Amino acid sequence: MESLLAYLKKEREQEWRVELRSKIKNKERTSLERLAMPEADPDIRNKSYCEVNKGLTEEQAIHEARRCIDCPSPTCIYGCPVGINIPKFVKLIEAGEFLESAKVLKETNALPAVCGRVCPQEAQCEKTCFYNEKLKKPPVAIGNLERFAADYERNSGHISVPEISSHNGIKVATIGSGPASLAFAGDMAKMGYDVTVFEALHEIGGVLKYGIPEFRLPNEIVDVEIDILKKMGVHFFTNFIVGKTSTIDDLRKQGYAAFFVASGAGLPNFMNIPGENYIGIYSANEYLTRINLMKAAHDDYDTPVISGKNVAVIGGGNTAMDSVRTAKRLGAKNARILYRRSIEEMPARNEEIKHAQEEGIEFLNLTNPLEYYGDENGRVKGMKVQKMELGEPDDSGRRRPIPIKGSEYEIEADTVVVSVGVSPNPLIPRNMPELEVSAWGTIKVNQDTMQSSIPDIFAGGDIVRGGATVILAMGDGRKAAGGVDQYIKEKVRNILSLIKEFKTIGDILEFATK
Ligand code: FAD
Repeated sequence: MESLLAYLKKEREQEWRVELRSKIKNKERTSLERLAMPEADPDIRNKSYCEVNKGLTEEQAIHEARRCIDCPSPTCIYGCPVGINIPKFVKLIEAGEFLESAKVLKETNALPAVCGRVCPQEAQCEKTCFYNEKLKKPPVAIGNLERFAADYERNSGHISVPEISSHNGIKVATIGSGPASLAFAGDMAKMGYDVTVFEALHEIGGVLKYGIPEFRLPNEIVDVEIDILKKMGVHFFTNFIVGKTSTIDDLRKQGYAAFFVASGAGLPNFMNIPGENYIGIYSANEYLTRINLMKAAHDDYDTPVISGKNVAVIGGGNTAMDSVRTAKRLGAKNARILYRRSIEEMPARNEEIKHAQEEGIEFLNLTNPLEYYGDENGRVKGMKVQKMELGEPDDSGRRRPIPIKGSEYEIEADTVVVSVGVSPNPLIPRNMPELEVSAWGTIKVNQDTMQSSIPDIFAGGDIVRGGATVILAMGDGRKAAGGVDQYIKEKVRNILSLIKEFKTIGDILEFATK
């Protein structure tokens, strides 16, 4: 098979690409400044759920695409877990062929409008961009361009549906409907399989819908990308808990030939400190689900949520930023982050931290909660916290937070959102004792095929990695699709070779009844 580099080089020599390169000298390209993403005014957006990032205009996108020098050996592509042909989609934007650009994205990415909004590009494709690696200049804004192409296509109304091979009639199931599952479903459908997605909640999308707020990722954008999968023939069942509504064994009996478990890491962690059960203390998952999925902020929904004036969010990841920015939008006067390390160690994306700061979020870094206080009705009213200092790096490579003795003090808090990590969803592993899991409850898989210890069960995304990212989950989904295809083809080959050995119709009937 042709190597990826050879393939990319051949594509780069296509006439239109050569012509485009010849129009502008590299020196001129590299002298262009990276364009900032247009954003909504912080004082307006922190009171509304409108999208914060506004997207590039056509002119801005073409300018940004011109910065890409169309490297002979592109390194950006190796930073993309789903292997998008980045130079090609960027050059199509430069050429003004926006719809064609969106098609290139969809060849390997079932959710380009989602990824263009939430992927940590700074740690992936943009990190390995030539500008970063060799010129020490801001990389090409690949994520902003991905969003542009996907949005352009959606707004144009000419939404392309990827080509699918002829149906092979083989049924496969995927459990959960987050990005891992959706990527798996897209690839399997393209290969001609009959794919069904089983989702426990009443909405499709996993964290994309119940976790990430609409001011970062509007639900309607997720829905458009899901609709494309529906058009590709993928079936969706909601309110269906695999392990309760039906077991995997029940589904095997219905003829599913293989399963992809992508049930995520939706089990929240708590700190187990005194007072954590007071009313008004939520896990980030519960808090965000009430608002994003159950629409607690909308007047015409009756989902309750406590909209405190003094909200403390514990943690420093994307989930903590989403929670605290949501609290601000719900009317909190003081919306605070309490994080036990310094801002440099925060796992949240830089952009999310910047947006939170602009929106008036207060950061109490190097601060850790010790205990919560409640009123006579059992409602949280305050907390004791302690100052921390940083010691030597720990196993995560980040400097270890060390409590400073005698530095305890109290702060008011009428709502607390605990966002200190998540654990894998335990339902499926608990129902299948033969399924090998790690000490943390993640499903163990072969890293090349995503096959678990049970041959017809594959797994990927957060249930394998613990809480990770959208694009890593999607990369797993794509890898698992390759693994399942290989597994099923192998099985079919074995059956065919067995059939060749049969001498009589009786042999065939005996085999069929086994
Ligand atoms: P999930 O998205 O968790 O989906 C799993 C689905 O499986 C859920 O819908 C669940 O209901 C369903 N399910 C579970 N058990 C069953 C069952 N037994 N039967 C049927 N269905 C079941 N990543 C980024 O890259 N960028 C970000 O900006 C970002 N922000 C985030 C913000 C928040 C608030 C959170 C919580 C996470 C964020 N992440 C972000 C992480 C990212 O969303 C996850 O890594 C990703 O969604 C994992 O995908 P998944 O498909 O493995 O699982």
